[in-house]
Amino acid sequence: MRVTTLASGSTGNCTLVQASSGSLLIDAGISARRITQGLSQLGEDACNLSGILITHEHTDHISGLAVLLKRTAAPVYALPAVALCLSGILPERAAQIHSVDHLFSLDGFEITPIQTLHDSADSCGWRIETEEDAFGLCTDLGVVTEEVLDGLCGVRCALIESNHDIDMLLRGPYPPYLKKRILSDHGHLSNAAAAQLAATLAANGTEQLILGHLSRHNNTPSKALETVCGHLEACLPEVLRPAVACAPEREFLTVEIGAYAPCML
Ligand SMILES: [Zn+2]
Ligand SMILES: [Zn+2]
Repeated sequence: MRVTTLASGSTGNCTLVQASSGSLLIDAGISARRITQGLSQLGEDACNLSGILITHEHTDHISGLAVLLKRTAAPVYALPAVALCLSGILPERAAQIHSVDHLFSLDGFEITPIQTLHDSADSCGWRIETEEDAFGLCTDLGVVTEEVLDGLCGVRCALIESNHDIDMLLRGPYPPYLKKRILSDHGHLSNAAAAQLAATLAANGTEQLILGHLSRHNNTPSKALETVCGHLEACLPEVLRPAVACAPEREFLTVEIGAYAPCML
């Protein structure tokens, strides 16, 4: 399995998962033009996608979906409240939008939504398994719940949110109500919380970690890496430490699942 983040962060999120049996897009939060151009650079065609998985209906996850669905008949999957919301926004595409709330199979993938706490109609991450590999993605997490831990536990590669450095957020330019929202259980995950989640996943077999949805104003890739890798070094023996990389805001990051490289500070 190969995972490529096309974009990650509050300006847009889109991830491609490729396996020998098919390919899946997770979220379409950048323009359809950027998505189709990105797919062709990665040897894919929107028409041939096995499916499009949506985490939730916030703009940074669906802004390119309406136009993308003019170019592909690929089925769209989301939790019930999000599927209902998308069908309301795109009534002409309602037949293409499927509501799911448990494991389903699609083109050699076993796909499970992972319910998350966030301030949207409903929100989820996704666990995607093939016969060989397992990948999990959870961003836009107010807090790490048991469902998130269970849903991601044992995946070989995980993309988790590492949204903000708490000090940068508190000292930064955001108005108090927004700081409060981000720090709440329905907001976004800090680097420190991501580090704890990373250690739990690594202790349960995760070998590759991608840190995503970094805030442009309240974080830097080096701060996120320093916090997460520092914590992993402090609490795990070297043999259990996963490779860690940050998903850039606009450029691609490709991770070949199973191609192991150690944690680098
Ligand atoms: Zn969101
Ligand atoms: Zn988001």
